[in-house]
Amino acid sequence: MFTGNIISKFKGIQTPFYYYDLEVLNQTLQKLKKESGKYGFFVHYALKANADNKILDIIKSYNLGADCVSGNEVKKAIECNFSPEHIVFAGVGKSDAEINCALDNNIFCFNCESLQELEVINDLAFKKNKNAGIALRINPNVNANTHKYITTGLEENKFGINLWELATVVNAVKKLKNLQLIGLHFHIGSQIMDLNSFKSLCLRVNEIQNWFAVRKIKIENINVGGGLGVNYHEPDTNLIPDFEVYFKLFNDFLELRPRQKVHFELGRSITAQCGTLISKVLYVKNGVNTNFAILDAGMTELMRPALYQAYHKIENLSKMENGKLRMENGNQPLAIQKYDVVGPICESSDCFGKAVSLPETMRGDLIALRTAGAYGEVMSSAYNLRDRVKAFYSNEI
Ligand SMILES: *Cc1c(COP(=O)(O)O)cnc(C)c1O
Repeated sequence: MFTGNIISKFKGIQTPFYYYDLEVLNQTLQKLKKESGKYGFFVHYALKANADNKILDIIKSYNLGADCVSGNEVKKAIECNFSPEHIVFAGVGKSDAEINCALDNNIFCFNCESLQELEVINDLAFKKNKNAGIALRINPNVNANTHKYITTGLEENKFGINLWELATVVNAVKKLKNLQLIGLHFHIGSQIMDLNSFKSLCLRVNEIQNWFAVRKIKIENINVGGGLGVNYHEPDTNLIPDFEVYFKLFNDFLELRPRQKVHFELGRSITAQCGTLISKVLYVKNGVNTNFAILDAGMTELMRPALYQAYHKIENLSKMENGKLRMENGNQPLAIQKYDVVGPICESSDCFGKAVSLPETMRGDLIALRTAGAYGEVMSSAYNLRDRVKAFYSNEI
């Protein structure tokens, strides 16, 4: 990704900042469209992964729908010209104001997570003399085999309607006259690398579909959520996720009823690899058993490592050439040392990596934190009263 003399492009830009390679984003979207299109699957982009205006404009241009988890995300999707009939709205805690906003915008579907939520949406829709399209978010009790903080499809998680509650909820929905049951929704977690988890999901969806068929309830839409993982360890050789295998798996294992439409909600797999957090080394300090490379970026710019021990590949761009480690005196590679790479924030969890192997690193070196295009900029904060991080794009610098 960092071919050519990227350092000279970054010269004069105040660090830290996000750098988005729009070529990578476009290639990812092209592949996504091609592979999902083979089976007529419809993909909604999960705005929460990255809601940058330029990124959203590009994603919109590929005619994806939008998957929103707040009223402001619904508003943002509308502002960015996603059509309301392709907007879905999920979340365990939708406020009345958020529900009203979604009703006013006539979105396609509310993905509903509890009986009480269904009753509230029905009341609010009644007051507006509207019918709300709803999908039941069912907790399939399938393990995503990912970090526990980003696992959402187990009974112990707060998300969705549990299987044992299904009969009660379905009976209640029948009596809620301003709701229209148009689908079933599932989302088992994020950063899922073990595709067997998706196969287990498909098999569970098939069982649940039978449950509805026995009760003669017609379901038009099956939404299997998102969660496809990306390769944080080897980004350059895996810039584009394997959408081919992913979509084929759903085609192979989902047993669909006639005219059923399948929806996906992908976030991370679309935007993660196109984004990099660029930072500068402020100081190098010797510790007891380690050296510290202290960056001008911290958990305020990229929170994932502090939040759930996430790994991001760290590269010293000042010691690289054409994406590879620079050679010294012709053909000797630079000596490698270990560093704890940390940020400036007053929290011990403000650490991007321990014992990271890097070529000898100095004050002023440019450091890249790779695969930061999803759940990066969107989670940035102003903690410690820091400036909000800026973004730059490959077609502008
Ligand atoms: C976060 C989320 C997604 C997107 O997950 P990714 O792992 O980024 O693909 C999809 N659907 C729902 C309901 C979500 O909460």
